[in-house]
Amino acid sequence: MRWQGGRRGNIEDRRGMGGGAIAGGGIGVTVLALIGYFVFGIDPTTTQQVASQFGGAGSRETGQVGTPEDQAGQFVAVIRASTDDVWQTRLEGYKSPNMVVYEQGTQTGCGYGQSAMGPFYCPADQTVYLDLSFWQQMETDLGASGADFARAYVIAHEVGHHIQTLTGASQQVREAQQRASGEAEANRYSVALELQADCYAGVWAKNASAASNGQVALEPGDLEEGLRTASAIGDDTLQRRGGGRVVPEGFTHGTSAQRMEWLQRGYQTGDPASCDTFSAL
Ligand SMILES: [Zn+2]
Repeated sequence: MRWQGGRRGNIEDRRGMGGGAIAGGGIGVTVLALIGYFVFGIDPTTTQQVASQFGGAGSRETGQVGTPEDQAGQFVAVIRASTDDVWQTRLEGYKSPNMVVYEQGTQTGCGYGQSAMGPFYCPADQTVYLDLSFWQQMETDLGASGADFARAYVIAHEVGHHIQTLTGASQQVREAQQRASGEAEANRYSVALELQADCYAGVWAKNASAASNGQVALEPGDLEEGLRTASAIGDDTLQRRGGGRVVPEGFTHGTSAQRMEWLQRGYQTGDPASCDTFSAL
């Protein structure tokens, strides 16, 4: 992926802050376990147990805001600016999310966030939280070695959840889930939301080059790399890797085939209107 010449955006760097003080009650922990349950397939009950040990949202931490000097931080700053540049032209009334990089754990508007959850978006404070050590884990677990587009896809997917907060799709899904007849139906809504975020990541990828005069652009092989990542994090594949049977009712993110399909659809059309995963339910 080409990105070195891209515009740098501001991110908040909380690395080296040691996870911060842990305070407060359990409010927000459950919310975090559900909505914070990110792209990359850790069982939400595990997340919840881990989060419970730490209690809920406490005093807000603040890191340095700007462009970090290290390579990984710069990459996030460029992808952040690129997603802003694309969505400003694609969504009327677009407002940037905040973006925080952290290590190990940090306070969030949705409770205590930590590395085990992978990247996630918190609607309460409209912030994308990224633990960069997760990228190491991606390489080890998913074989996404040196894969900068795979990383960008993860960030763009989380920004996709921010778009869903702005459009009201997230809120509609939560309401529909409350009316749902059972867990299987509620999970289908989660899947639609996740696949739409994948499609939005594809929309970003398609428009990144035009929005940056070619400074941020996919190179040959990048889309395939993104599709391999999308495949590796499908619910069915993750369930198999976990040694279990594949149980479609338990899916919350979509199968490997679905995730690849929607990322590709967003990329082919470049148009968020093509990302209506809800009609496809
Ligand atoms: Zn997601």
